[in-house]
Amino acid sequence: MRIEVPPAVRDMVRDLEKADFETWTVGGAVRDAVRERPGEREDWDLATRAHPQQVQDLFPRTVPLGIEYGTVGVFGSDGVLYEVTTFRHDVITYGRKAVVAFAETLREDLARRDFTVNAMAWHPRRRVLYDPYGGQEDLEQGILRAVGAPAERFREDYLRVLRGLRFAGTLGFEIEPDTWGAMVEAVPGLTRLSVERVREELMKVLAGASPSRALRLYRQCGALRCILPEIDEDLTDDALAAVDAVPRRKPGTRMAMLLLQGLGAAAASTGPRVLTRLRFSNSEVQRIGAACRGGVGPPEGLVHDAPARRRWAARMGRRTLDDIFRIWRAAVESRADRDAEVDATDTGIDATGREVERVIAAIEGDLGAGIPLSTRELAVAGRDLVALGWQPGPDIGKALKRLLEAVWEDPAANERSTLLEMAVGMDPTGKPDG
Ligand code: ATP
Ligand code: MG
Repeated sequence: MRIEVPPAVRDMVRDLEKADFETWTVGGAVRDAVRERPGEREDWDLATRAHPQQVQDLFPRTVPLGIEYGTVGVFGSDGVLYEVTTFRHDVITYGRKAVVAFAETLREDLARRDFTVNAMAWHPRRRVLYDPYGGQEDLEQGILRAVGAPAERFREDYLRVLRGLRFAGTLGFEIEPDTWGAMVEAVPGLTRLSVERVREELMKVLAGASPSRALRLYRQCGALRCILPEIDEDLTDDALAAVDAVPRRKPGTRMAMLLLQGLGAAAASTGPRVLTRLRFSNSEVQRIGAACRGGVGPPEGLVHDAPARRRWAARMGRRTLDDIFRIWRAAVESRADRDAEVDATDTGIDATGREVERVIAAIEGDLGAGIPLSTRELAVAGRDLVALGWQPGPDIGKALKRLLEAVWEDPAANERSTLLEMAVGMDPTGKPDG
C-alpha cells in the first residue's frame, strides 16, 4: 500500500509528532486514495491527539474553524488550508448532531465515524494504513457499510442516512443489507434534522458527478418524500437523469430542474416556497425560483412569433435566461439519450432539440442586437415625454410600455425620433409638443 500525500501535509504530521502528538490523515482523501483516485482532491484532513490550543501554538498560520469540535485550520507550506481535528468520540447524541468530546486514541476517533470506507487512517511518514473496520475490503468490493451497529449509528445522527445515500451514489456502491435496512427504518427521523444540514447535504448531492444515482436511492428508501414532500414521489429515472444533464458547476440550476421535474408547471409557484422552507438564502430563492419559471422547454408559439418571444424573455428577466436555456438543453439532452436507446432513428426529438436551439438563438440574437427588454432600455425615457408636455404620473409608464411593445413588433422603431413621434401620436392631452 502506497498513498501519495502532499509534502505540506507530511510536514505538518512531522511537526505535530515532533511535539509528541500522534497524527494521521483521515476521511475522504484517504478513502479516495485507497480507491486509487489520487490527484482528485487536495482536502486532506488530519486527526491528532493534540488539542486545538496546542495545534494553534505549534503553527504560525491557523484559522479557528470549529474549536468546540476540535477543528483548527492550518495553512500548509503550500498555502493550502488543511483541517486538523483532535481525536474525538461521541458522548451524548440526540439524532440531530452528535455532541463530541476529545479522545485519547485514533481507534476511538475512527469508531465514531459513519462508514467503514470513511473510517480508515493513513500515516504518511510510517506508511501504515490503520483500518480496524475493514474499509479497504469494503472499498474493493464496492460495499457501503456502517461502522458498528447501523441502527444505533443512524439514531445518533440521522444525517448519516443521507450521507450514506450520497456516498453509495457517488461511489456506485451497494449498500450492505443491514445498513440499508437500518437506513430505511431511520428515514422518519430525518424530519428531526435541521433544514440547514439537510439542504447542505442535498446540495452536495447536486454538486456531484451524477446526482441521479443518489437521488434514486433517496427515492427508494423514502428519504425523498421525507425531505421534499412537495414533489412527486414517483419521480421517474428519466426525470432524475434530466438533473444530471444540467452542468455540474450549476448545482442551483440542478435544484431548479429537480423542482421542475417533481412539480411540473406548479414549480413556478411552489418552487420558491420549497426553497424558502429549506432556508436557501433570499438571493438563491430568487435565482433558483426564477429559473423554475422558464419550464423545461420553450412555451408553444415562441418559435415563430418574435414579439411573443421578446415579451416572454422580458418576463423571465435577462439574468435568468442563461439558467433557463441550460435547463431546456439538459431536458433535450436527457430525452435524446433515452430515445437513442429506444430508437436511434427517431427524428421527432431531434426536431424538438432544433426548435429549442432556434428559440435560444433568436433570443440571444435579440439581446446581442440590443433589443430592449424593459422600458428603461428604450431609446426614450419618461422625462422625454414630460418634455413633450405629458403630466408626470402613471400615464407615462403606460405609454412607455406601449412603446416597448411597438419596439418588440419592430425593433427598428427603437430610435429616439421614431419613438418621440409615436409618443406624440399617443399623447393623452392630444396636444403636440408646444
Ligand atoms: P467528501 O468530502 O467527499 O464529501 P468526506 O468523507 O471527506 O467526503 P466530510 O463530510 O468531509 O466527508 O467528513 C470527513 C470525515 O468525517 C468523514 O470521512 C467521516 O469519517 C467523518 N464524518 C463526517 N460527518 C460525519 C457524521 N455525521 N457522522 C460520522 N462521521 C462523520
Ligand atoms: Mg471532506
